[in-house]
Amino acid sequence: MDLNAARERMVLEQLERRGIHDTRVLGAMRAVQRDRFIAPEFAEHAYDDGPLPIGSDQTISQPYMVALICEVAALAGGERVLEIGTGSGYQTAVLARLCARIYSVETIPALHQRARVILAAQQIDNVELRLGDGSSGWSEQAPFDAIVVTAAMPGIPRPLLDQLTPEGRLVAPIGEDELQTLVRISRIGGAWREEYFGECRFVKMTGKYGFGD
Ligand code: SAH
Repeated sequence: MDLNAARERMVLEQLERRGIHDTRVLGAMRAVQRDRFIAPEFAEHAYDDGPLPIGSDQTISQPYMVALICEVAALAGGERVLEIGTGSGYQTAVLARLCARIYSVETIPALHQRARVILAAQQIDNVELRLGDGSSGWSEQAPFDAIVVTAAMPGIPRPLLDQLTPEGRLVAPIGEDELQTLVRISRIGGAWREEYFGECRFVKMTGKYGFGD
């Protein structure tokens, strides 16, 4: 199977045709090999239109969701970004191409360790990984120009908003454990603007501001 051709097709059919138009995001999705972030037995499905299992009852996100979150985060290249939910490290690798430095927190040791090995093998070196509950952010590294959350949250934790720069934005799936809305919260001067980008389904966030353990 030609994985490079499958990836090109994914970008065209799943991303461009559905309205992803940020050329930097499309370029990053073209460049990062999703097949490297999943077990070999799933490699032929690497560019399918959906999530895939990565062990520990977690999933690598659907390519379209990864691209949409990156586009909604509106990155120009110089940002410091916090990702909550490293998972496979796939979205981390895409974000690494879109910003200056990406900080990513994962709560499951096996996934954290696996992502570390895969990202190092890809020579991605603008990434800092941390093991722990990321639901209240990473205060030692704050502030962040953008915070992206890749697990469902029941609400927006105040500590995350406090870790944004004055122009910062938070992108997160917010809602029930089975269905969420992709929300962007931006800080505009002293006020907050909330925008919605459709329904989505993510695995549940655990920890202090998640759905519990
Ligand atoms: N973007 C990732 C998605 C992984 S799924 C990818 O494409 O691979 C969401 C991840 O969030 C899971 O790995 C899960 O373990 C992690 N997670 C859940 N609750 C968390 C928390 N409180 N802190 C950090 N990570 C958490």
